[in-house]
Amino acid sequence: MKKLIAIVEDEPDIIELVTIHLSKSGFTVKGFLNGKSFYKFLEKKMPDLVVLDLMLPDIDGLDICKTIRRKDEWSSIPIIVLTAKSEETDKILGLELGADDYVTKPFAPKELVARVKAVLRRHAPMKEAKKIEIGDALVIDLGKYEVNVDGKRIDLTATEFRILELLATKKGWVFSRDKILDFLWGEEKAVIDRTVDVHIRHLREKLGKAAFLIKNIRGVGYKLEE
Ligand code: CA
Repeated sequence: MKKLIAIVEDEPDIIELVTIHLSKSGFTVKGFLNGKSFYKFLEKKMPDLVVLDLMLPDIDGLDICKTIRRKDEWSSIPIIVLTAKSEETDKILGLELGADDYVTKPFAPKELVARVKAVLRRHAPMKEAKKIEIGDALVIDLGKYEVNVDGKRIDLTATEFRILELLATKKGWVFSRDKILDFLWGEEKAVIDRTVDVHIRHLREKLGKAAFLIKNIRGVGYKLEE
């Protein structure tokens, strides 16, 4: 079945361009010119990914980002933020609020398509369902894409899950920020080192009492260890 990509963007030309390119790559695309119509749609249907412009006429894109992440049914939807500003702060803010990636305007449609594919790939379920237990509190179910701390389910974004997965499958190994970015993005890697730190910080916050398992090796990177 074709994956459904929602694009929320008040410039019809951009919606059209993105729709053409994503459709060519085998996606179904639905465009929304404002936040309200997108929310209305979300109540009925879950897209596989959202491309979200930050500057919308009615609702701030960052607020939409926050709302999606806060609501249980929606929280796992991957989000790629479109930002007109090239300032790093804006991108970081998008990631802070739970976006999986960002693309700066003006962008080449090809780049966006590559990002969409990369984020969806990260989100795809693993072939081999496997559970990893770390310490006595943390359980990562790679098949179900679930993380539990003390039996309580933790909601992670696709990116946070992938980072945890990487660290967990090679317990005790130190991964540099660069390695982590490679794992997340492969050839499409164009993000900055600090991105990893932001995701790790979120991951730690969400892991609560199991947060200590993620260790920062100063000047090198991160590892997961009891
Ligand atoms: Ca806009």
